[in-house]
Order: sequence, then structure tokens, then C-alpha cells
Amino acid sequence: MSESTTIRWEQDETGVVTLVLDDPNQSANTMNQAFRASITAIADRAEAEKDSIRGIVYTSAKKTFFAGGDLKDMIKAGPEDAQAIFESALEMKRALRRIETLGKPVVAAINGAALGGGYEIALASHHRVALDAPGSKIGLPEVTLGLLPGGGGVARTVRLMGITDALLKVLLQGTQYNPKRALDNGLVHELAATPEEMLAKARAFIDAHPESQQPWDVPGYKIPGGTPSNPRFAANLPAFPANLRKQLNGAPYPAPRNIMAAAVEGSQVDFETALTIESRYFTELVVGQTAKNMIQAFFFDLQAVNSGANRPQGIAPRKVRRVAVLGAGMMGAGIAYSCARAGIEVVLKDVSAESAAKGKAYSEKLCAKAVAKGRTTQEKADALLALITPTGDVADLAGCDAVIEAVFEDTALKHKVFQEIQHVVEPDALLCSNTSTLPITVLAEGVERQADFIGLHFFSPVDKMPLVEIIKGGRTGDEALARAFDLVRQINKTPIVVNDSRGFFTSRVIGHFINEGVAMIGEGAEPASVEQAAAQAGYPAKVLSLMDELTLTLPRKIRNETRKAVEEAGGTWTSHPGELVIDRMVDEFGRTGRSGGAGFYDYAEDGRRGKLWPGLREHFTKPGTDIPFRDMQERMLFAEALDTVRLVEEGVLTSVADANIGSILGIGFPAWTGGVLQYVNGYEGGVAGFVARARELAATYGERFTPPALLVEKAERGEVFTDAAS
Ligand code: NAD
Repeated sequence: MSESTTIRWEQDETGVVTLVLDDPNQSANTMNQAFRASITAIADRAEAEKDSIRGIVYTSAKKTFFAGGDLKDMIKAGPEDAQAIFESALEMKRALRRIETLGKPVVAAINGAALGGGYEIALASHHRVALDAPGSKIGLPEVTLGLLPGGGGVARTVRLMGITDALLKVLLQGTQYNPKRALDNGLVHELAATPEEMLAKARAFIDAHPESQQPWDVPGYKIPGGTPSNPRFAANLPAFPANLRKQLNGAPYPAPRNIMAAAVEGSQVDFETALTIESRYFTELVVGQTAKNMIQAFFFDLQAVNSGANRPQGIAPRKVRRVAVLGAGMMGAGIAYSCARAGIEVVLKDVSAESAAKGKAYSEKLCAKAVAKGRTTQEKADALLALITPTGDVADLAGCDAVIEAVFEDTALKHKVFQEIQHVVEPDALLCSNTSTLPITVLAEGVERQADFIGLHFFSPVDKMPLVEIIKGGRTGDEALARAFDLVRQINKTPIVVNDSRGFFTSRVIGHFINEGVAMIGEGAEPASVEQAAAQAGYPAKVLSLMDELTLTLPRKIRNETRKAVEEAGGTWTSHPGELVIDRMVDEFGRTGRSGGAGFYDYAEDGRRGKLWPGLREHFTKPGTDIPFRDMQERMLFAEALDTVRLVEEGVLTSVADANIGSILGIGFPAWTGGVLQYVNGYEGGVAGFVARARELAATYGERFTPPALLVEKAERGEVFTDAAS
């Protein structure tokens, strides 16, 4: 019998065995080889000592119950590891299954987060009691990492709640529920207010159910809602993949497809076979590229970014207490709400008290909606709103230890508002601008303390968008950078850090996506095909509809200013073919985008988007234009990736993790790629394959696809983009 090194067996005099999940080598329990061996050893012992056992309770000695799979191992797995992965997934599931079917009541006492593998252990229990701890999360988020729950999670949720609910509530979105919502949605059976109450409830279940077993092990059990062997259910089955395709818009995410297949196929066979089917689909995902991309981005890169890999070291963390938000327009209103939500006092300043009050009304609207939907209480909403003071009077900004400016995009105006407030706020207040394009170094010239001036680029809508791009100006000090970083974390957003440059990282790179999409219209492509190409490449917003949202006049304005700056610096400006299309749309047809009531799409009176403008086909489309679909997609993806590499070359971007996370969370680069530089790393044939393909695109579509020197060097040296010290 092997030994359990990560699970402690604690048996009391009444015969209740508490299995304490406690890996001595990790701060949180994750599913690794030691855990798999321990579960097998525990199953062996439980079988051998069955007669002395009255019931079993799983709980954890860590703050979280169990954190999930060991992603460090998974990201390294290649096709040659497939058999070993398949077998070890099955081994673990068989051990859990042996405990589940021992004939004794099994309870999970979920003392903290139980995600992925952790919730799968809980699912292998007959009863689940969750501690109602703040911040605790329960669910199977594997799909968000390009995986499926391979520890019995598909087989058991399908049997627990039926195929449809399992797919929609748990598996396909990877929703992480707080304990209360986990209870409401049937993921756990009861909640406990304290650890003692949780363990008492676990015992009470054992006392009351000495013969307990899983519902699916009771003879005659039927999966709720039916299975494909039921004719009514079978009639609906074809709609499943069709709905999924619609939801994914054709984007290449293998995990949802595998999850659905494992759920449907597994529902038609016995439990043991369902576990094998699940392991097969799981293995296919683990050895594939998409899971590696998504694990890299959403686990490792996100952790690096949020934990401050890019924050200057040795500067004590500081919290902002009272922030001045200058400008109560669309962005200022959203910034005020996000700060107040994090408990920061906000003074929201506009040209008059009335316009500032309009900005606060935005928070009032969001709060009312949150109360109506049960996401917050009236009391909490009132407390949030009480933190926001709208004003037209500069004197009210006294005592602010940070300033976030969001007035119109105009250098002179921004200089003026900072001059007005710089001696009113605290003498060492952090000074931030939310400009989307203006150079921070130039804006900083408007204040006396240039070292305290920094860019804090939020995205719209601020309350929903998780990213903030921090821009370090030429004279910004490390202290200001550290404080800006801390402020972004304080409001629960993800900060990336870039050096100053026109358009920074995000605004500049998204411009290439749009220009490339629009250029294809100019070449005569079918507008609907261009939109479909973006959707099927995995972009959350189609390219022409995004252009309409941003307005067609904005890129023109930015382009003209950039062109002027380039020419003044003695450089030459190369026009992008997309620019001509935008110029014609605005000058010849007066179509400026959604806010103007007409753009690439038609819009209803109330602003609702209608169909693509028929004039596009009339004025631009050339029948017979044949841009291969893959080229359409790759032109957009490559345009963004190549410019990102140039930004690395120019020293604007200094972190690969920041580039990856910023591209996904800020500008909608497709998540399946793992981010814009991971897309280059993971391209077929690696970086060298990417370079070869870029050269092909350059030969067909123009010099702008020529790979930059840095990329060619990396390909020649066999390197990838990474932050790891080599
Ligand atoms: P907006 O036009 O909605 O709001 C600007 C607000 O500034 C108005 O309420 C105006 O009354 C106020 N204002 C003007 N002069 C002022 C003064 N002297 N003192 C105080 N308030 C004054 O603009 P917006 O979309 O919120 O953009 C604001 C800034 O954020 C711009 O720099 C913009 O480039 C940037 N930004 C915008 C977006 C976006 O998606 N809209 C995204 C990121 C950054």
C-alpha cells in the first residue's frame, strides 16, 4: 500500500474519518502526482478498514479547500504525454470513485474556494456543506483555460443536474459562484456560517444517513431532464452544437465542443465508461495548443501582471483615500463609480455642479440596477453613492491624495485643468491623466511636479472593463508608478505598464486591426465576409461594427496628429490603405459611425444597429475579389501582432505578460491565442513559422507585413517571447 503524503487521515472514536487535504509542499492544495498517489492510498486504506468507518468528511487545512489542477505540469505536456495524462486522470477518478462507493456516507466540508479539481472532490461526495466565507468561490472554470473538468466533473454534474443545466450553469461558462449562489444553483446542499458549524453539519449528515449513496448509484436512477436515448430529448439534440456555434461565432475554441461531447456521450453510458470518455476528451485538450495559450495568459501572465512583476520594487504600498476625478463625462463618471465601489471617497468635478451631478447620476443608475438584480443591498448602494461628491468648485478638491483627469482630449485644456488644481489637492497627490492618445510627457509639462504625473488609461465602459494601461512618461518617477499600480489594484482592476509613445500600446495596436479590416473593404471584399472573418478569428467585436462604435472621425483625427508629429520629427508618413476607405466614408458619404446615426452599418432612430449599409457593396465591393478567408483573418491578427513586436523593439512594451493580458482584456485580441505575443509563440511552426507567414502576407498584401528585425532574430535563434530570465 502506498503512503498518503498530502491527505491526513484523522479518525475519531465514533468512526468518522476526516480526510484533511494538506499538501506540505504547497501553500494551496493543487492536483499533482503526490495528490493522485495520496487519494489512491486513502482509497486502499478506506477499503481495508471499512468496518471501522462510519463516515468520511473531506476538508482542508489550507485557506482554500482545493485550488485545482497543476497547471505548471499541464502547460508542458506534449502529444507524447497523452497516454500518461489519460491514465493518471483515470487513476485519480477511480480512487475517488472507490471512496464514493464504499457504502459509507461521504461529505465535503468546503472551507474555502473549491474550483476545478477541488469542486470535483466535492462532487464525489454525497453531501456538500460550504462555509459562507467572503471571497470564496465554487465551480468548474476549466473552460476558461481551454480545458474540461477531467476529474469526474462532467460525468457528475450531468448526473446531478441534467445535461442542459450542467452545460449552461456549470461547464460551458465556467462560472465561479459565491457560496450563496452555489447553493441557489444546486452546486452545494447547505451553507455554514462558521467552520465549527460546517463540521457539525457534516457529522449530522453522517448520523442521519448511514446508508448514503450518490443518486446515480441508486438502482433505477435516471438523469434529470433526460438523455439522447429519450426521443423528446433527442429531438432537441441537434440544437446543442448549433447554439454553441452561434455562441462562439465560429471562433476556434475546442474546449466547449469537447465538454459538450463528453456530457452528451457520457450521459448514454454507465458511470465508469462516462469517466473514460471524459478522460479522453480531457487529454485531447491538455496536449493541444489552445489550452497552453489560455493557461499561459489567464493563469501565469495574469498572476504576474496583478502581483506586480512590473511594479518598482522597494516602495511601500499606499492606498488612496480621496480621489479627484476631473471631468464627469462618459469616462469620468465610470471612473468615479469604480473608485467609490472600492471604498474611495470621490470628488467628481466638471465645469458646473449640474454637469458633475449628471456624472454622478451614472453611478445612481448602476447602483439601482445592481439592487434590482439582487447583486447588492440598498444599504451598500447608498453607502457607495455617499462617497461621491459632485462639484463645479475647485476648492472642493482639497485633501485629495490622487487626481484622475478625464476632460476632453485636448492638450491645452488638460494643461489648464491641472494648473487649476495642482495647489488645491494634497502637496504630494498622484497626478493621472486618462488620455487615450496624447503623449504623457507633453501633458506632464503642464504641472510643477512632473515626477508625480502619469497616464492611467481606462477602457469604456469603465465599470465593466478590467484593464487599466499605466503609461510612464519621460519624467515620471518610480514612486508615482508604484502608487498608480497600487491604485489600479485598489479598485480591483488589472494594470499593465508601458512607456510613453503616441497611442501607447492598446490604442496604437487596435488601430492596426481596424485599418486592416477596413482596407479589405477598399480592396473590394464582401463586407459581410470581413465581419465574419473577424468573428471566426475569435474577436469579440466585428471589425466594421467596432469602427462604428469608435466613430470614423476619431482615427482620422489621431492619424492626422500622428502624421504631423512624424513629419515634424523629419520622418516620412506611409498611408495605410484603410485610411482611404475611412476618408471616403466620412467625406463622400457623410457616414461617421454610430454616434452620427450612420456608418458601415445603418442605425435606427434609437441607436440600435441595423444591417450593413448596402452602399458599401455599391461603392466598394468588386465582384470576383477573392481574398482567402484565412488571409482575411490572419491579416487582422498579424497586423496587431507585428505592431506589438515593433512596440517591444521600441521599448514601449517591456513585458510579454503585459502585452498578452493587455491585448486580451483591453482591445479584444482573441483569447484562444493566449494574447498577442503568445499568438506569435504558438503559431504553427513557432516564431519561425510566424515569420515565414508574415513574409507571405507581405508579398501579397504589402510591406506593412514585413517582419521586424527583432522577430527575425528570435526566429533565427529559436527563441520565443517570454519574461522568464533566460
Ligand atoms: P466626454 O466628452 O464624455 O467628457 C468630458 C467631460 O469633461 C465633459 O463632461 C466636460 O464637461 C468635462 N470638462 C470639460 N472641460 C472641463 C473642465 N475645465 N473642468 C472639468 N471638466 C471639464 O469625454 P470622455 O469620453 O469621457 O473622455 C474623456 C477623456 O478620456 C479623453 O481624454 C478621452 O480621450 C479619454 N478616453 C476616452 C475613452 C472613450 O472610450 N471614450 C477611453 C479611454 C480614454
